[in-house]
Amino acid sequence: MQVNETVVRSVVQEVLKRLAAGGTPAAAVDGKGYQGRFGLFTCPDEAVAAARHAFEQLSRRTLEDRRRIIGHIRRIAIEQCVELGTMEMQETKIGRLEHKIEKLKILGERAPGVEFMRSEVFSGDHGLAVIEHGPFGVIGAVTPVTHSLPTLTGNAVSMIASGNTVVFNPHPSGKRVAAEGVRRYNEAIYRDLGIDNLICLIAEPTLESANALFKHRDINLICVTGGPAVARAAMQQMKRAVVAGPGNPPVVVDETADLDRAARCIIQGGAYDNNLLCIAEKQVFAVEQIFDRLMEAMQRAGAVRLTAGECDALTKAAIASVGEGDQKHDVPHKDYIGRDAAVLARGIGRKIAPEVELLFGETDESSPFVPVEQMMPFVPFVRCRNVDEAIEKARRSERGFRHTAIIHSNNVHNMTKMGKAMDTTLFIKNGPCMAGLGLGGEGYCSFSIAGPTGEGVTTPLTFTRERRCSMIDDLRILGK
Ligand code: NAD
Repeated sequence: MQVNETVVRSVVQEVLKRLAAGGTPAAAVDGKGYQGRFGLFTCPDEAVAAARHAFEQLSRRTLEDRRRIIGHIRRIAIEQCVELGTMEMQETKIGRLEHKIEKLKILGERAPGVEFMRSEVFSGDHGLAVIEHGPFGVIGAVTPVTHSLPTLTGNAVSMIASGNTVVFNPHPSGKRVAAEGVRRYNEAIYRDLGIDNLICLIAEPTLESANALFKHRDINLICVTGGPAVARAAMQQMKRAVVAGPGNPPVVVDETADLDRAARCIIQGGAYDNNLLCIAEKQVFAVEQIFDRLMEAMQRAGAVRLTAGECDALTKAAIASVGEGDQKHDVPHKDYIGRDAAVLARGIGRKIAPEVELLFGETDESSPFVPVEQMMPFVPFVRCRNVDEAIEKARRSERGFRHTAIIHSNNVHNMTKMGKAMDTTLFIKNGPCMAGLGLGGEGYCSFSIAGPTGEGVTTPLTFTRERRCSMIDDLRILGK
């Protein structure tokens, strides 16, 4: 199973040839000449022009057509999840194959679509006012390497459901699978509905091309999913941005928790795709009274415990220091991000079975693994005197991202206390992190959780403008 590189490469080469020959000014102006490109571009101006033309076409179509368009994206994401998930794994080389496949299928099945669209009405003595949710137009979107095609797929479904089109600037290390997905989605949509380029993509993405999209006058809205740098860059723009930024989710376990269940949940969430999820369990604060029993429960559930010496060795190997002076800070080492537990263990000279999902060990709060968003399957456990200390340490470790927090407890006062203290977009009680996205819990799923800008778990409505339509003194059929 290979990325259809020949096709992607030939489209990109065609584009480069045309650019070298002086470009295609007529097409660049109105975007009409881009039919058959299936969304693949190297030039941001061309991509935006094509997406604008597609937007105008989409604006003349029915909601039912939007449903059909999304149906193609869903079908391909589900039916071709093994092939595309394998491509993503081969290209990015981080995470776990079964989860790459599953994530694509999940987004295909569950990304919020047209069914999330709604209108509100005010009805009174002076008639009716209807509030509808219209598209912004063309969205400029940036996606992470941790889930390249899954994020793109979920964004595309929700953005098109509300009538927008989109130009993606994917992470350079996940660009080929993103291009292949975009090509397949557009081709299927074009063959059925005759509209191409609803989803456009910069095939050779750079920071400059991201910036060109952010600043482009024909980009009406920005949506970024990623770490601190891209979140900051998007929020500095002069137009509205939906920012799904970084997290560092802490877990508190108190003396009333079901410890076996807590251990299973921490492993399920913390080990998923080798801890690449932004919502994944990153550090645990457990109260003294149950600390040792929780560690035993973790071992019973299949995680491998590291000794204090091994935790130190892993810290030296897997956490690096970058920057100078005030800017100096710790980051996860590239060689360990998203790698299997067995690879981490090998790095410190320990051999473990390849099927082990998660490593864990006791550290104190000062371990760099506590504040750093490690994105690797090792979770530090910190012993706390009581639940108040655990909650306070959890709050500090989350570093103000206000993204996700988790508690295992059967004491509603402790849950309430933690919920208030953390002030996070997602707060999960007695489940693994993904239950907060409706995967084993209630609610719906999206891989873009907009914390800094406040939209929360994104839906089609996130990408809309409110439009009010008022009828004065008529059409209210009630009363006088
Ligand atoms: P990253 O920040 O390295 O890259 C994300 C994207 O932003 C990439 O496409 C990258 O090329 C681009 N980028 C980076 N700096 C930029 C800049 N200055 N200007 C324009 N574009 C820039 O992150 P990653 O390693 O790909 O993904 C992991 C990060 O994303 C983690 O911090 C994780 O928490 C976060 N994330 C958040 C969510 C969410 O829903 N909130 C979802 C997934 C991932």
